[in-house]
Amino acid sequence: MTPVVALVGRPNVGKSTLFNRLTRTRDALVADFPGLTRDRKYGQAKLGRMEFIVVDTGGIDGSEEGIELHMAEQSLLAIDEADVVLFLVDARAGLTSADIGIANHLRRQKKKVFLVANKVDGLDADSVVGEFYALALGEVYQMAAAHGRGVYGLLEQALTPY
Ligand code: GDP
Ligand code: MG
Repeated sequence: MTPVVALVGRPNVGKSTLFNRLTRTRDALVADFPGLTRDRKYGQAKLGRMEFIVVDTGGIDGSEEGIELHMAEQSLLAIDEADVVLFLVDARAGLTSADIGIANHLRRQKKKVFLVANKVDGLDADSVVGEFYALALGEVYQMAAAHGRGVYGLLEQALTPY
């Protein structure tokens, strides 16, 4: 089975930028992968020897309180059908209440979650990503999706069991 990687996080953290980099806009032939619906945006990704399906989500609107009540249905479904979840946060914006709400949801899932601080380009990454450890999702991976930095290593780590 081809592993499925879901990209989740609040709007504007860089999910679609990462999706486009991973797929180079090749849309997956969803029909070839039974069990996936057409309601979310799927792409077929090939990175070195790794092949996987990546799912972009519109994002979770965390601007309101009670984030789990407002998590977009599509994002929840994408998490459900994924083997691995990449949870993106914005290293420039810092930790937000929306991030905390999403993290609370993800911690209750049995999914393997990788917490990714995106947009570290031009930043002193080690000093800005520290606050995201408060989300209690383990390691904080550094990435600059727009430039490709950190992408390969993260996927290699995330897909090792598959
Ligand atoms: P989404 O809403 O999570 O899908 O976020 P997008 O992929 O649409 O990106 C939101 C904004 O962040 C866009 O202006 C991107 O160009 C910018 N962005 C994405 N990745 C990076 C990055 O690695 N570094 C910087 N500096 N900007 C980025
Ligand atoms: Mg997007």
